[in-house]
This record gives sequence, structure tokens and C-alpha cells, in this order.
Amino acid sequence: MSEFDLIRDHFSRIGTRRPDVALGVGDDCALLRVPEGFELAVSIDTLVAGVHFFADCDPEKLGHKSLAAGLSDLAAMGAEPAWATLALTIPEANEGWLSAFSLGLARLAGDEGVALVGGDTTHGPLSVTVQVHGLVPAGKAVRRSGARAGDLVCVSGTLGDAGLALRLLEAGEAPSRFLRGRLERPTPRVRLGIALRGIATAMIDLSDGLTADLGHILEASGAGAQIRLADLPLCEEVRDRLSANADWGLPLASGDDYELCFCIPVQERHRLPALANRFDIGIRVVGQILQGHGLRCLLEDGSTWRLQRSGYDHFSNEG
Ligand code: ADP
Ligand code: MG
Repeated sequence: MSEFDLIRDHFSRIGTRRPDVALGVGDDCALLRVPEGFELAVSIDTLVAGVHFFADCDPEKLGHKSLAAGLSDLAAMGAEPAWATLALTIPEANEGWLSAFSLGLARLAGDEGVALVGGDTTHGPLSVTVQVHGLVPAGKAVRRSGARAGDLVCVSGTLGDAGLALRLLEAGEAPSRFLRGRLERPTPRVRLGIALRGIATAMIDLSDGLTADLGHILEASGAGAQIRLADLPLCEEVRDRLSANADWGLPLASGDDYELCFCIPVQERHRLPALANRFDIGIRVVGQILQGHGLRCLLEDGSTWRLQRSGYDHFSNEG
């Protein structure tokens, strides 16, 4: 199979056919139309075998997750997903692997209205890079920098599920279907992110853990915050684990949650139940933005819980 056959067979018709794609896969560049009055939101993510996923993982799930990560970034800005490009490095052209990988990618792309409009295919150690492009009305994107003292800190879904799945796998134990799904097939909260435009003052997606990611909001906003650990949204399995070992690092500092963390003015709080209902997802107020800086995590007895390590960092020497 030549490189060109591979691209034609597996990557030329992925996702939604969109009228704003003047030219897709096949030429030197894709040609895309950004509608008047909109800004283009762009984000890129790389998943490397052995670092972000097991090299022998299910390729269909890898296809899903490599797009999901980017869509979660678009969600965190309140941008509507439109286009994606894919840079794929593979050790060999295995038809079965490529079909499954492109199927995982295509399903999520189709579900979210995304067209795959181009990419690059190279030979080497397995690595997947997806760039996503979204559209957002000019000036309406939700940045990290808008949180103000008094705002409520909110989180969608549950925290630490993917982290627990990973710990179990690393310990040679089998995670439940639910936990495994949360690790391998995360659902980017795209519709919720869009609905939060005009409501949220700041937003981020949780890829590195709540303490690290909320920390980015605090730094960008020049503010501090306090969260109550008893209010964190946890699934039963994470809750059980915590009552056994009180390891709050699990919900606070393990990666891959792909939930949204956002801040809202207090007077917007009444909107949360309707949003949760509309998108069929939990939304929990976990704390409040304060003047000053830094994040305090309050235990139920009022004492402060101190974090050893605040999230995954590829370049920290602690590893
Ligand atoms: P060039 O030599 O100009 O870089 P390529 O041979 O890399 O072109 O790619 C040919 C066409 O196929 C381009 O339109 C490119 O965007 C597309 N393409 C290559 N690899 C992929 C891929 N993995 N997924 C989607 N499109 C791809
Ligand atoms: Mg190329």
C-alpha cells in the first residue's frame, strides 16, 4: 500500500461534509471559509505511544480519544467544532489498525459535525497529533482570565475516574466498564461549553487535574480560590477508594478527566440545574474565587489539604 492509497482509503472522507470546506484532503492545503463575524479557535494535541497511551491499545479508542482531546479544548473556549487535521506517525501500515483508528476518529467527528480536512502521514514511532479548528462569535470565547472574586467555581461530570482506571491497569487489575470508558472514550463537553458562553467568566478543560487546571484560571485571572473537597463530584468507585485511603490526589491531580471547570457570577447560579438537565450531565459548585492568589482545598473539618504534586507535567523532574 502506498502512502497515497493509505490516505485515500482511510482518511479522505472522515467526519461531516461541511459547506464551509471549499477544498478538503488531496491538495497541498485545505481551503476553509470562516464566516463573517466569527473567530477561528485553534488547538493542537499530540498523543505519544508509551507516554499518553499503551502502544497496544485498541486503535478505535485511540482514534476517538485523539480527537476528543482537541474537542475538549474547543469546548473550554465555547467554540463550535468545525474542522480537524491529523498528523499520524505509524511504525507500519497495518490495514486493520488503520481501519479501526479511522473509524474511532470518524464516529466522533461525525457526531460533533467535524470534517477532517487534511493531515500528514509519516513512518516512525507511533504518535498521533490532531489539530482542531472551531468557530466562535467574535469576542465571545470564554478565556481563562475572566474569573473575579466572588464567582463560583463549577465542575461538570465526575473527577478522577480516568485516573483510577489508569492506576488499576498499572497495578494489573481490571477497571470496571465505566472507569475504562472514562479513560479510553472520554466525552468532550462541547454543547455545555457553547451554552456557557455569556454565563461563564472563565473556563478550562480538565486534562491535567483540577488543582493544576483551576490553577491556570487563577493565574490568568489574578485571583485565588477555595474549594471544599466534600463537594467534589465523585463516582462511587472513586468515593470508595477515597474512604479507604483519603488520597485526594486521585480526584484532584490525575489527568484525563476531560470535564469542564468554569467560573460563574453568583447571580447565574440558578441556571445550573437547567443546563445540567439539558445536557444530561452533573454540574457541581465546588468552591469560590477569592481575592489574592493560590488555591486552598478545605477538608470537611475545616483544615487545609496539601497537595504533593499538582498534576501531570511532562518536564517536571519529579516525573
Ligand atoms: P504534501 O506532500 O503536500 O505534504 P501529503 O502527501 O503529505 O502532501 O498529503 C497529501 C494530501 O493528503 C494532503 O491534502 C494532506 O492534507 C492529506 N493527508 C495526508 N495525511 C493525512 C492524514 N493522516 N489524514 C488526513 N489527511 C491527510
Ligand atoms: Mg505532507
